[in-house]
Amino acid sequence: MSKQSYDFVIIGSGLGGLQCAYILADHGFSVCVLEKNQQLGGSLQIFSREKTVFDTGVHYLPALDEGQPLYSYFKYFGLTDSVKWKKLDKHFDQISFDDGSKFHHASSWKEFENTLISDFPQEENAIRTYSETIQKVVKTFPLDELEYNEKDHTDDTLLDISAKEFIDGLTENEKLRAVLAGSNLLYAGSAEKCPLYVHALVTHGYVLSAYRCIDGGSQLAKELSKRIREKGGEVLRRKKVVGFDMENGQLTAARTEDGEMYRGKNFISNIQPKVLFQLIGKEHFKPSFYNRFQRAPHTLSSFSVHIVCKPDSFPYHNHNVYHHTSNDVWAKPDYVEAEWPLQFMLSTPASSKSETFAEGISIMTYMRFDEVEQWANSHNTIVSPLERPSEYVNWKEQKTEQLLKAVEKRFPEIRNCIQSVHASTPLTFRDYIGNDDGNMYGTEKDFRRTVANFVSPKTKIHNLWLTGQYLNLHGIFGVTISSIVTCGQFLDRKKLLERIKRAE
Ligand SMILES: Cc1cc2nc3c(=O)[nH]c(=O)nc-3n(C[C@H](O)[C@H](O)[C@H](O)COP(=O)(O)OP(=O)(O)OC[C@H]3O[C@@H](n4cnc5c(N)ncnc54)[C@H](O)[C@@H]3O)c2cc1C
Repeated sequence: MSKQSYDFVIIGSGLGGLQCAYILADHGFSVCVLEKNQQLGGSLQIFSREKTVFDTGVHYLPALDEGQPLYSYFKYFGLTDSVKWKKLDKHFDQISFDDGSKFHHASSWKEFENTLISDFPQEENAIRTYSETIQKVVKTFPLDELEYNEKDHTDDTLLDISAKEFIDGLTENEKLRAVLAGSNLLYAGSAEKCPLYVHALVTHGYVLSAYRCIDGGSQLAKELSKRIREKGGEVLRRKKVVGFDMENGQLTAARTEDGEMYRGKNFISNIQPKVLFQLIGKEHFKPSFYNRFQRAPHTLSSFSVHIVCKPDSFPYHNHNVYHHTSNDVWAKPDYVEAEWPLQFMLSTPASSKSETFAEGISIMTYMRFDEVEQWANSHNTIVSPLERPSEYVNWKEQKTEQLLKAVEKRFPEIRNCIQSVHASTPLTFRDYIGNDDGNMYGTEKDFRRTVANFVSPKTKIHNLWLTGQYLNLHGIFGVTISSIVTCGQFLDRKKLLERIKRAE
């Protein structure tokens, strides 16, 4: 049993949990991070097959050129020099279609506009209006540009605009509409709900610049945990939080599966709020607050196929490919299983061993949790390895084949490059991340529910706070902003931003 009482006990070592721990340790607080897995980092985790490293939940990162926003934040966290980075090509995303057409998203707004105008010369006005509007929307989120403001966003009138309606309003050209929204696997935006600001924040970051981690994104978690420990903090693995102690309406300790107890003055949760509040107990909350999180809709889950390539068989692509079967590129939670997959994203992880050929290929597409619901009672992680039913294993093989057939249409040579294939399903994500449905990006945002889209780090328990992708926005950049918002509850936000800028 831990005898010490920490200033902050942090549940979960996803990027958000680690960043909060670092910020607080850097300001002299005692912190302890409790992580249920063997590997730190949540969606930053990697795995390897036949010595080939694959990322599970981060394929590329935005805004990392020197002086750009994520660079400035990462400089403060000590991640710019210690992690191996590879900048993607000027045409960092290729958007392709079953009809054989191919287009590109290019780095810098000027290049982005020029590239699309050369493909759609009649659509210059629409393309320029798109670019101007996206930049205008982003400017209303001060923290995305490291600017101090007490508010997280400064223009409420821009929050309730539909991304699809905005794009459709720019042009009648269906292909251009599809290209502009073509990377929506990055935010799982559905036509019916996705707010323009979500599309804008995500797209803008990558247009600024796009980078991959060489040899895997887990370096971010390793470096952060090293720095937390250097500042006196603790980061503990295999510590699954299974309950809490409370006194006078405040949390006093987190209890872990191995029977240990971690006392704290404050608690920050980096896990799905729905699961957190279940662990604390419904009786400690007003029904309206508790039910809001139990009923919150989540983004779709995903199915990923990871291929170990035969030596020197498949070229390393220094860009990502988003491929769509039709011009209807938005996420479709109600897809018909026989027509699945309607789109996929293909990327080749950057490896220090070769810049010419890919060691591996990762392919990701959407999948609903209900496809695996019948096996929901089975669990399997490195820490708790258990066999899944053989029906599930067969189903996974069928789905892998279905996805590979779709990929073959775009990359006919891929079959000959395969040494081995490995798949992950919504159950894999559920078990490794600890949410209840394997969702990719936390709460699903809806342009008609602007208040519900923004989750405060404060909870109804005065010494319990939230961070991570369930707050404002998912993704490495979104979660970094949430860490500042959460820590701004204890620290002077203005001074924190000044300290971050000084680190540059
Ligand atoms: C398939 C996929 C692809 C993605 N691609 C990209 C990309 O290319 N670029 C990008 O920017 N973003 C990408 N993202 C999103 C990004 O990875 C996430 O938004 C971000 O990493 C989430 O961080 P987080 O802080 O919310 O924590 P999470 O990563 O959700 O981690 C939560 C942590 O809490 C731990 N935990 C849960 N329950 C408990 C418990 N009871 N006790 C102790 N610990 C617990 C978990 O084990 C986990 O380590 C992707 C996500 C997915 C799923």
